[in-house]
Amino acid sequence: MAIKIAFIGLGNMGGPMAINLVEAGRENGNKVCVYDLSAQAVVDVVEHGAATAVSASKAVDDADVIISMLPAGKHVEQLYLSEGEGLIHRIKPGALVIDSSTIDATTAKKVARTLAEQGIDFIDAPVSGGVGGAKAGTLSFMVGGTVESFTRAEPILSQMGKNIFHAGEHGAGQVAKVCNNMLLSVLMVGTSEALQLGIANGLDPKVLSNIMSKSSGSNWTLDVYNPCPDVMANVPASNDYQGGFMVDLMAKDLGLAMETALASKSSTPMGALARSLYAMHAQAGNGGIDFSSIFKIFEQNQNN
Ligand code: NAD
Repeated sequence: MAIKIAFIGLGNMGGPMAINLVEAGRENGNKVCVYDLSAQAVVDVVEHGAATAVSASKAVDDADVIISMLPAGKHVEQLYLSEGEGLIHRIKPGALVIDSSTIDATTAKKVARTLAEQGIDFIDAPVSGGVGGAKAGTLSFMVGGTVESFTRAEPILSQMGKNIFHAGEHGAGQVAKVCNNMLLSVLMVGTSEALQLGIANGLDPKVLSNIMSKSSGSNWTLDVYNPCPDVMANVPASNDYQGGFMVDLMAKDLGLAMETALASKSSTPMGALARSLYAMHAQAGNGGIDFSSIFKIFEQNQNN
């Protein structure tokens, strides 16, 4: 049965995700209505065949599924729960809300609990895979919510992604996301310092990368996303660190990881160090370039 989907937040990620739903709708009959505060972001998706509305409230009228892709927790809480304007007052009971923004688990749980009081289902479903994955429809979704909501969401998420995981109850998707990105940052920092150590001692980074990739140092940041310029084609490092996953976003995710660690009294020394390094790197004016550029902070002066 064809359904109506409302999509709120059409930025770098949300725009291509919504376009994939519109394109799938040509086959399955689903209708997509989109909204963003930026008029240009809306135009880009409407050009692909989506409907739009004058406000988020109007976009969710009669929607069976509502998807949001917003910057941070405060935006998500405000969109759904704010007094008067909050979508909680407009979404029909029985509808399913899918929030794919990367936010803190506490806010995700609060939104889930409050919507449930009005008979509205909620899942947190943050993604991994970046803008490339959003465009290609190959994102990984990490879902927190009931089994029933997960089962309901899966066919919709699979129109935007390739790997759909049920991490656990509400908030579990967000916890899985920050664990993954904290590990990714630690691997990227470790790979960067190891490569720079080799370079400082006369090794060719291509040769060293090849050795470590076939040895016990092998990991995704070395094998697939090498941070040293010109070791690998088609990675941000070989394109002046343009494209990819911004330092600012990694710094944001590491902040969420630290909040999560604080709440559970977990010890995360490597994550804490990576957070400091990424914050410092962002402060130095690198917030808008790819996170593999952390490689540059270990560069030695030629005259040393
Ligand atoms: P973005 O800043 O490009 O897009 C956010 C969009 O939300 C903007 O177009 C903005 O106008 C819109 N918006 C904000 N408040 C709104 C409101 N109240 N109503 C309607 N629209 C509103 O961000 P992005 O890169 O698309 O990231 C979105 C989320 O996905 C973030 O939580 C981010 O951490 C996460 N994420 C991003 C990436 C990435 O590579 N960009 C990867 C994985 C996860």
